[in-house]
Amino acid sequence: MKFDFHCHSHYSDGLLSPAELIEYAEERGIELLALTDHDSIDGIALAQDSIQSSQAKLRLIGGVEISALTAFGEIHIVGLNVDVQNGALKAALKEQQDKRWQRAEDMNVRLAKVGVVGVLDACKKDVIQVITRSHMATAIVSLGYAKDRQQAFKKYIGKKGRIKVPKNWMTIEDAIALINGAGGISILAHPTRYPLSNRQLGLLIAAFKLAGGEALELAYPSLNKDKRDWLLVHLEKHNLLASSGSDFHYPNLKWTDLGRFPVLDDRIPHVLNQLNLSLL
Ligand code: AMP
Ligand code: MN
Ligand code: MN
Ligand code: MN
Repeated sequence: MKFDFHCHSHYSDGLLSPAELIEYAEERGIELLALTDHDSIDGIALAQDSIQSSQAKLRLIGGVEISALTAFGEIHIVGLNVDVQNGALKAALKEQQDKRWQRAEDMNVRLAKVGVVGVLDACKKDVIQVITRSHMATAIVSLGYAKDRQQAFKKYIGKKGRIKVPKNWMTIEDAIALINGAGGISILAHPTRYPLSNRQLGLLIAAFKLAGGEALELAYPSLNKDKRDWLLVHLEKHNLLASSGSDFHYPNLKWTDLGRFPVLDDRIPHVLNQLNLSLL
């Protein structure tokens, strides 16, 4: 089955609207899709509406990518198959969205102090629900302070950029409890993309399991075979499931696309087999 369990719409930092995303997924023959916007589940009902009105064949799963804080820094937890009507989840995500706007205000002040003026005003020219550094990078480029988004991250808002980026997210325990409370499965997103040594990443995976985490992403575009094999050892050690997702944000990129990631060996236990597809 062709599926993708990690992608974004313009409800966070993706380019496409939920309806455009559904159309795009249909064109690519995707049969099962989880929309996993950063700290938002608000695009999912619209995506579902567009499936109905366009009579698309694909099935949609409720999803979310929650930013959380650990002793190892900030991580992302994908919640798969969450009930988008769940009140506790909705309220907690609203709180994260408010924190994101507060963080953007803070960053805007810090940026102005190093001569990068007007970033938040430029962001606000678009309708944004969940503000991310991705939106700010685009604004920094449009204002002429960086030649492209990569440079905006490198110079200003990335890990080693000039601006300190406050992190004020919920704990992993809270994120996992919210996801489970909404009937979903919690997945550690793109484990190799955090700035951690192998030893630290091993400890993070152990902490994620201890907090109730259930799965690791084991197939995504930037993950090579050596790293995947390394992750597989930790997956087996902690009895975790695997998940797969492209982390699609924009069409027409060379290195990634919706539904594009390596196919995993059938013998690896996968979240796909944990979903009761007949009930979806
Ligand atoms: P935030 O969650 O607000 O910190 O924003 C993080 C988002 O920015 C990620 O989900 C990526 O989509 C994007 N991002 C992070 N780092 C980079 C980078 N170096 N280059 C391009 N996009 C990035
Ligand atoms: Mn993103
Ligand atoms: Mn992420
Ligand atoms: Mn993502």
